[in-house]
Amino acid sequence: MSEPIRIQPDLEFVKELQSTGGQDLKKCYQCATCSVVCPLSPMDRAFPRKEMVWAQWGLKDRLVNDIDMWLCHKCGQCTDQCPRGAKPGELMASLRNMAYKKLTGPRFMGEWMGSLKHLPKLIAIPAVIYLLVWFITGSIHDTPFPREHGHIDFALIFPPVATIDTVFVLASLFVVYTFYQGIRNLWQSFESQPSTFVIGYQKPDNILISLWEVIRQEVVTHKKWKDCGEEEEAHQVRFKGHLVLFYSFVALFIVTSIVFATFWGGMITPYLDMAYPMPLWNPVKILGNLGAIALLVGLVYLTRRRLNDAGSDGSSYHDWYLLGVIWGVALTGILAQIFRIAEVAGLAYVVYYLHLISVFMLIAYAPWSKLGHMIYRVAALTYARRHGRLATELETSKNKLFVV
Ligand code: SF4
Ligand code: SF4
Repeated sequence: MSEPIRIQPDLEFVKELQSTGGQDLKKCYQCATCSVVCPLSPMDRAFPRKEMVWAQWGLKDRLVNDIDMWLCHKCGQCTDQCPRGAKPGELMASLRNMAYKKLTGPRFMGEWMGSLKHLPKLIAIPAVIYLLVWFITGSIHDTPFPREHGHIDFALIFPPVATIDTVFVLASLFVVYTFYQGIRNLWQSFESQPSTFVIGYQKPDNILISLWEVIRQEVVTHKKWKDCGEEEEAHQVRFKGHLVLFYSFVALFIVTSIVFATFWGGMITPYLDMAYPMPLWNPVKILGNLGAIALLVGLVYLTRRRLNDAGSDGSSYHDWYLLGVIWGVALTGILAQIFRIAEVAGLAYVVYYLHLISVFMLIAYAPWSKLGHMIYRVAALTYARRHGRLATELETSKNKLFVV
């Protein structure tokens, strides 16, 4: 006779899930409608019904290691079709929100990022760092409102300019290392799951090919996300907002990289030297401003969608935190430029200071925010492709699924 399996529910975990977006999970009566309607669920061990069952039973170990939470694009079809209003799509999002918090240390960061009451501390960290840098470099005495040739020049606030770049370079290195640790922990957690293979599925020769497939299909075009919930207007609004926001980030990243490279490269060779502040007609400046406009458009789309979700309790603090910080980056960036051109020095420097704080909050806290999903989802999908954990649409009759 086989040994009985002892199940140890974790009730604290269930409460945590309910507080981060899965508040209706107890309503589920396991009809499996959600798994049937989900366009991205594999045929074998389909989601999200099994996650609903595990969540009700408090099976924390299974849920925190579940690769399927990353396959879900939160299109909302399962939530719309659920006859009990148990919101399985929100549960999947709630699982991911919890994963961002716990994938990597320091642990207190995950906790701070999960609650509004810790927000003042998160704002205070960059606010104090910049003031300290300003104080230590002596700039607070020398150049409180620096002007060059009659113009406001933000680059002169922190002389030498290297100090401000150093803060961002150190923050970026910290983020890269933290993501490396997070991805390593994520992949290790998947190893405890049953390996799933598709018969006839040609496993990519190496992980880089899997990564390229994910970037091509999931990141560059967002195609799979678009296909999931194609008929849902609300999903399409979110899809468009996300795509516009993604490409605005790409544009702004290119601009920041060019500015960084030309500034430091200009110290080595005069060919890379550029005059700052850049004139408005400079192609790099034009790209930056187009990126800023696209950022605003994407934010309007996503905020509208979030406000609609808020009416049905579908948005969590995690969702609003990231939107709020990106709004902060966009508005302070645009206003700083307007005040600089209008030569309203007092406002220009204050807004620029707020801009630096919001950019720091966007970059340095990314591993614990929803922005982390860009990295973690790509990592998880790469792993899934490598191991043949595929959506139903990718399984042909030849590619029959079985579990080892
Ligand atoms: S979440 Fe809803 S649709 Fe899915 S199994 Fe439960 S009751 Fe059925
Ligand atoms: S939200 Fe969409 S992708 Fe996620 S489980 Fe539901 S139907 Fe599937």
